[in-house]
Amino acid sequence: MLIQRGGLKVVAGLGISGVAAVNFLHEQGYRVAVTDSRANPPGHDQISTEVQSSFGALDQELLLAAEEIIISPGLDPKLPEIQAAIAKGIPVVSEIQILRRATDKPIVAITGSNAKSTVTTLFGLMAADAGKKVAVGGNLGRPALDLIKDDPELYVLELSSFQLETTSNLNAEVAVVLNMSEDHLDRHGDMMGYHTAKHRIFQGVKKVVHNRDDSLTRPLVPDSTPMQSFGLNAPDLNQYGVLREDDGTMWLARGRERLIQSSELYIQGMHNIANALACLALGEAIGLARESMLATLRTFKGLEHRCEFVKELHGVRYYNDSKGTNIGATLAALDGLGAAIQAKGGKVAIILGGQGKGQDFTALREALTKYAKVAVLIGEDRTMIENAIQGTTALLHAQTLEQAVQLCQQHTQANDVVLLSPACASFDMFKGYSQRGQQFVACVNALH
Ligand code: ADP
Repeated sequence: MLIQRGGLKVVAGLGISGVAAVNFLHEQGYRVAVTDSRANPPGHDQISTEVQSSFGALDQELLLAAEEIIISPGLDPKLPEIQAAIAKGIPVVSEIQILRRATDKPIVAITGSNAKSTVTTLFGLMAADAGKKVAVGGNLGRPALDLIKDDPELYVLELSSFQLETTSNLNAEVAVVLNMSEDHLDRHGDMMGYHTAKHRIFQGVKKVVHNRDDSLTRPLVPDSTPMQSFGLNAPDLNQYGVLREDDGTMWLARGRERLIQSSELYIQGMHNIANALACLALGEAIGLARESMLATLRTFKGLEHRCEFVKELHGVRYYNDSKGTNIGATLAALDGLGAAIQAKGGKVAIILGGQGKGQDFTALREALTKYAKVAVLIGEDRTMIENAIQGTTALLHAQTLEQAVQLCQQHTQANDVVLLSPACASFDMFKGYSQRGQQFVACVNALH
């Protein structure tokens, strides 16, 4: 029999993490209710019929009856219904907060504007290969509250700024903000708000990893908190970085110690070297064996939709970087691929556009001028993007992704690259980045 506990927990917003929250709290014996503005929210059929539900609008009365509100990352706490509850003193927390309360097992917490999924996945593999009973999830893959049933000895969590803005005292074993570039300003207001949300990951942290190349990743924590950095320059003693030989060989290194050559990695681009170094630093913080981590690194092929090579046709290489949903990611792709083909006289035809999320697209100007031969613009914010990057490279418009791919083919020749890296969200034209990426791959495969 379930134990009935305390006051009412109201989950606001269903979806994947909301379902996990409802089911977890219900199984724990709490009184649980759920509300969602959609009449048929995704996952409504995956929750117990014993749970009170109110769909079609955020139920203000229900929210005000809560002892605590568990808010889904997709819901903005600034919504009037949530604000009304906050004004009454009702705590509003993320599902990550519930996880922290439910377990005292160590958490490795990973956030950043980009590279979260790559680093979380690679680090999860490193931990598993090194013999840890690890559960990996959060903003990636499985929702955090689903992981508890695995009874892991270690949690590896990818956390978004949306999850962090309602998480306090995470007390992570080790935490990292991988990098900071403009994103989600439509939700956080400005960079300051976004930075504040991300840095909540360090509340109560035991060890810190930060990115030397990005001062916005460095937290304000007590001097006694052990800190290790990674970066793409030569590392100081005990730090992670890159050592370059005269013949161009690059080593991933710890201090003066050479660990592995960049040519031994499948994952490409300097940004991925930074990601690998971040993983090594995180692993050291929780005591993973170095040789085991390096062995995992040698086998890691990267994730779909992240600068993923699709195919070569008539000497033109096609890359799917549909997960390039902000300017920072698109710059990494342009700089990485652009620099690599420049030596052979190649240039990039890039497909950009979608929902711009309030970013300043002039930040793309330098890289486009340097590496692009054409930018094909798609999606609802394409005129705004066009105005921001006018004069950098040839600019074309396309109504569909298929048309965009065909235009790129027409404007490229051997040694060039065609790159889908939109720097935008996809929801104006697609269900999400993965559908956009799949469609791109299908369009590329249909070319002759
Ligand atoms: P996230 O989960 O933070 O969105 P992903 O690993 O899914 O991160 O990658 C998202 C995008 O960012 C992809 O386009 C990828 O190529 C790019 N990316 C990966 N690592 C970095 C990095 N260190 N700096 C900038 N962009 C990166």
